[in-house]
Parts: sequence; C-alpha cells; structure tokens
Amino acid sequence: MSLVSERLAALSPSETLAMSQKSAELKAQGFDVINLSVGEPDFNTPDHIKQAAKEAVDNNFSFYSPVNGYLSLRKAIVEKLKKENNLEYTPEQIVCSNGAKQSVCNVLMSVVSKGDEVIIPAPFWVSYVEMVKLAEGTNVIIPTTFEQNYKLSAQQLEEAITEKTKAIILCSPSNPTGSVYSKEELKALVDVLKNHPNVIIIADEIYEHINYIGKHESIAQFPEVFDRTVIVNGVSKGYAMTGWRIGWIAAPQWIASACNKLQGQYTSGPSSIAQKAAEAAYLGSQDCVEKMRKAFENRKNLILKLASEIEGFNLKEPEGAFYIFPECNSYFGKSYNGKTIQSSTDLAMFLLEDAHVACVGGDAFGAKNCIRMSYATSEEQIIEAFKRISASLKKLN
Ligand code: PMP
Ligand code: GLU
Repeated sequence: MSLVSERLAALSPSETLAMSQKSAELKAQGFDVINLSVGEPDFNTPDHIKQAAKEAVDNNFSFYSPVNGYLSLRKAIVEKLKKENNLEYTPEQIVCSNGAKQSVCNVLMSVVSKGDEVIIPAPFWVSYVEMVKLAEGTNVIIPTTFEQNYKLSAQQLEEAITEKTKAIILCSPSNPTGSVYSKEELKALVDVLKNHPNVIIIADEIYEHINYIGKHESIAQFPEVFDRTVIVNGVSKGYAMTGWRIGWIAAPQWIASACNKLQGQYTSGPSSIAQKAAEAAYLGSQDCVEKMRKAFENRKNLILKLASEIEGFNLKEPEGAFYIFPECNSYFGKSYNGKTIQSSTDLAMFLLEDAHVACVGGDAFGAKNCIRMSYATSEEQIIEAFKRISASLKKLN
C-alpha cells in the first residue's frame, strides 16, 4: 500500500541522480564504472574557499542566518552582478537557498498557480518539468532541433505564448545541450516578450562561468524585461561546490520577498558555514574559475573528437556547460544478447551494464533521440570511457 499524495505520485524521480546512484552501486560491488552521468565538476573546492569555511566554524557561524542569507553574502553577490554582468540589484533582491535547484523551485512555487502555463524549450534540465508539476502548473514544452542548435526561436516563442502563460524557463549555457544564447538571440526573444508584460522570465545561469565562446550574456541586461526576469545562479558548477548547496536568485523585489516568505516556512536560510564559503568564492581571486573552465574546454575538445568518431553519433560542439548530447537513435532497434534497444534510456542502461560507463538517456530531458554524457571528469577517464563505449556499441546488431 502506498499513501503518498497525488502530488508525489505524479512526480518522476530525478533521472540524473538515479543514474549516478546506479553507477555508485555498481562501483561499490567492485566494478570499475566510469561515471559520465551526473553533472558535477570533479575538482576539489579551491583551498581559499575551504579555508573560509574552516574560519567560519572557528568564528562560530553556527546560528541561524537570515532566511535569505547573510547580508555579507548577498552584498558579495550584488557586487558580482555589477562587476561581471553590469546589472544593478540591491541585497534585498537576492535570496540564497540550498542550491540553485531550490532557487528554481522557490520561484516556481512562488509565482505559478494551478493551471498556469510555463514554457520550457526542450531539451531541458530534468527537474524543471517536475517542479512545474509540484507547483500544479502546466508544462508547455517547445521542441527545438539539432539544426537550430537547440535554441528557441522568436517565432516559436510567439506561437507558444497564450493568455495563461505565467513564465518561461531559459537555461544558458544549457544543460543538457551545451548551447549558449548570443546577445542577438536573446534580443530576438526579448522583442517577443516585451509585448507580453505579464510573462516572468526565469534565466538559469548556473553554467555562466563554463563558457567556450566568450562573454556570458544575461537576458536581464535588456531593460524591456529586467523587472520581470529572475536570474538563477550559484556556486555549484563554476567554483566546484556542488555539495555545499548554495544557490541564489536575483529577482524583482516582489518575487524575492515571496521566495523569502516561502523559504521562511520551509527550509530557513541555507547552511551558515557554506554561505561563508560562497562569500569567499565571490570575493576571492577568480583565477580558479578560469583554470577549471580551461580544463573543461580541453576535455570538451577531446570528447568531441572521440564522440565524432563513433559511428551513428551526431552531435554539435558544445558552447558551454560540460555535456555532450549526441543523437544516438541509429542504435534503436538493434539488439545484443536477446535485448533490443528501444530508447535512449535502454542505450544508457546497455552502456552501463556492458561498458560500465554511466550516461543519461535523453528521454528525461525531453529529447528521446539523444544521450547525455558529462565530461566533468579526467581526460584519462574520458579516453577509457570511449574505448569501452565504442567496443560495446559494435556488439549491437
Ligand atoms: N540548473 C541546472 C541547469 C543544473 O544543471 C543544475 C545542476 N545541479 C542546477 C540548476 C542545480 O544546481 P545546484 O547544485 O546548485 O542545486
Ligand atoms: N544538475 C546536475 C545534472 O544535471 C546534477 C544532478 C541534478 O541535480 O539533477 O546532472
């Protein structure tokens, strides 16, 4: 018997975390598994950030922080937004949470009412659609194609907006496709959005610092939409701090206040120690960020070459983030040991079992013909993974 609520029953578990969990279980059984599933930098958190956390412990940052985070951290974020993005916010417009994941969920829970439509271009990060479900909203999924580099066009956006549209979620650099919107592409979307003043823009910029094509462009830079854009960002990816769980929003005051109210009844402020570490990340030298970005770029070049050599994989060069997302549907219908690959999830399962390489099927990202591979791992591991993938795929016929 299960007595879970309808809300929970409708929710799918996180496929990215599930695959990562499966790979950890196989590893624990003694198998040599290479994990390309979860999107998590393999670098250790830089020393000066760890040092700040140690000092925070010694200095008794052990009490509840304000619900929206320490003022000193919010000021550091305001400074970052000014310096890196040329955007003006006050500390009251920043709300810090337990990772950018909670930040996205807070915003959706704060603005979406039952039946409100939320536009999500596909491929999308797995959690968006589930969070919209939690908020009792309606997902409006707009498929984008390989040819358009998986970026939403102005025309698609115009056609998707109805009088029920409450929000749109944009992710740039994108998980899972690696696409990055240029300033011109964002402007084209803004030219549509300016005629729909009630639509809120949720701009997930968690991969801001992992960009291979130049300067990060935020949609918040356009005055036509600034006062209804919520930037989501955090320290997980750019500073190798996934486990510290610090994300944040920069939002119009009414949305920041709503998230503050929600969080005040739900989680309170995030970890006091982790906040002091995040503050050091923003205020300290940014050399570590560039060093890691460069390492990701080298790995991107390597994995792109190896994946392009795999027969039947069709892929774009990522412009940011740390994923490749090849089309792999040429393997659908092929079999091995009596098992037929019918979907990208089947292919991911086959690669896990046969090659001991963990990837995530595109189904969970709204792209059933693709498979996601994270290259946030060492070059040796990437080379070994592709040796195994290539050998396993050759067994399929
Ligand atoms: N948005 C995207 C697109 C992500 O890939 C992730 C990855 N975890 C998050 C948000 C959440 O990040 P965090 O670890 O800070 O919760
Ligand atoms: N965002 C990462 C990913 O897509 C981490 C896992 C998760 O939070 O879903 O793999």
